[in-house]
Amino acid sequence: MHPDLKAVVEVQQLDLEVAELTKLTDSLPKEIQTLQAQLDNFINSHEERKKRVAANLKERKDLEGDIKATQDKISRHRDQLYQVKTNDQYKALLKEIEGEEASIRKVEDKILEKMIESEEIQKLVEEAAAKLEGEKARVAEEIKKLENERQKDIGECERLKARRKEVAATLSEEVLELYERIRTYRKPPAVAEVRNGLCTACNIQLRPQVYNEIRTSETVMVCENCSRIQYYAGPPAEDPALDGGDGTRVSMS
Ligand SMILES: [Zn+2]
Repeated sequence: MHPDLKAVVEVQQLDLEVAELTKLTDSLPKEIQTLQAQLDNFINSHEERKKRVAANLKERKDLEGDIKATQDKISRHRDQLYQVKTNDQYKALLKEIEGEEASIRKVEDKILEKMIESEEIQKLVEEAAAKLEGEKARVAEEIKKLENERQKDIGECERLKARRKEVAATLSEEVLELYERIRTYRKPPAVAEVRNGLCTACNIQLRPQVYNEIRTSETVMVCENCSRIQYYAGPPAEDPALDGGDGTRVSMS
């Protein structure tokens, strides 16, 4: 293969790998944010429930205060029963006491409802409390793992960029410029393999004469259809070394 072609294929490969890694490292802060938000949600819900338990307790205390006040009223009214002069007054007081007792029962029902509600929330609070430290540790662990991966990817990216610089320096200025120009207006690849007489980027059948020229790789040529740099990597792999001997293909990866 023409040395420029060999180099530009490698430059392209490196550029693709750098782009892939950059995409990965760029997406990591968001992944970390998502994890952190999950944990924050967990903690917020937990705190919210704890507040509800406390508010519930206060509401019950207030209701108990109401009962106490009504009971005081009832005992005052009971004392008055002995002081009233008429039967009507007596009846009226009894009716009032009845009403007050009914209101106490209503408040007692409400307290019971609140107690049940409190027990349900309290159960969730205890469950969350039991999980909380584990959740914190899990998220911290995952974030650490992601950050380590990111550092590794950044390091690898730097290595690839350095290699890219090295290889690009061996390219003729003309081919490098051509490659960079194609990259600005074409989706990857900018350098396309020619296989079975076809440009693998645009799938156009090459003219036999062009195909022959590309196969000899004496010059750097571009596709007549899509203008991408073309290279020929050899015939489709029928390498007997890849054959397991019994006709099965041996995996290369
Ligand atoms: Zn093409």
